[in-house]
Amino acid sequence: MQLVTVGTVAFDRIETPFGKVDKVVGGAATYISLAASFFTDGVGLVSVVGEDFPEETMNEMRRRGIDLKGLEVLKGKESFFWAGRYHYDMNSRDTLETRLNVLLDLDPELPEEYRSAQYLMLGNLDPAVQAKVLEQMSPRPAMVVMDTMNFWMDSALEKLENVIANVDILAINDAEARQLSGEHSLVKAAKKIMAMGPTYLVVKKGEHGALLFSDDRVFFAPALPLEDIVDPTGAGDTFAGGFMGFLARTGDHSFENLKRAIIVGSALASFCCERFGIERLLQIEREDIDRRVQEFIELVDFDIELVAD
Ligand code: AMP
Repeated sequence: MQLVTVGTVAFDRIETPFGKVDKVVGGAATYISLAASFFTDGVGLVSVVGEDFPEETMNEMRRRGIDLKGLEVLKGKESFFWAGRYHYDMNSRDTLETRLNVLLDLDPELPEEYRSAQYLMLGNLDPAVQAKVLEQMSPRPAMVVMDTMNFWMDSALEKLENVIANVDILAINDAEARQLSGEHSLVKAAKKIMAMGPTYLVVKKGEHGALLFSDDRVFFAPALPLEDIVDPTGAGDTFAGGFMGFLARTGDHSFENLKRAIIVGSALASFCCERFGIERLLQIEREDIDRRVQEFIELVDFDIELVAD
């Protein structure tokens, strides 16, 4: 296995100003693994679902080379369920309902062939579960990326800090970076967070793009201005999956290549927003991604000659 991810595999109910769906497949690990599968065949998924999770979706994932040995199916139980509503400014949303269901039983034992993967993506989950997955990896992966959310900062800060101390890249949104660091300035926030352990910090800013910080450099990738944003659910996870998949494919962890991975992640995230749930990700092919990466290049390409005095 090249890349292992742990996170939710779920059903979502989503309301946006432009539409509503009652029950679509979602979950952080679903988006991460689908996005990564465009770049590598060796994606292993660690999660748990109930008997209600569609066999059809699991088969579609398998067809894309995603290994589901790490996905437990619990008989007689229901999958994780999340309901959310987006405001007109789709960078903000309210959680209307969270039913943990099978997630309460998630106590992952990694299949043997997952343990030596070079890339590990810890999706947003209880930091105790993230830690348990990381501990089972041997040798330590070459690259560990982690997502989290305010809920864990409020309820399990110490455990969360212990996991953060052991990852290479933390990828969170701007509000989360501010909360975790207690700093409003994202530059100061990045310094504080990198002092907690990670070598890099990725700050996701929704439709305003993403920032990549290292100790002495910063890179900004815009989000592609889309004509229609239908549903941003999963964009952050799709970004992370594309980012990781590209790193796993290229094996190059230089800052220059991390920049490319950020663009690839942003390109994938832009597709994710064009339909509800995972629908759009299932429609696209590698060539669509390549074309969109080219649009990013053009979006930020400019030539300037500074005016002399
Ligand atoms: P994103 O929009 O990238 O933050 O991810 C959205 C996905 O995260 C949805 O498909 C949900 O099923 C899942 N999700 C929502 N709340 C949680 C939670 N508390 N823990 C883990 N996953 C969640």
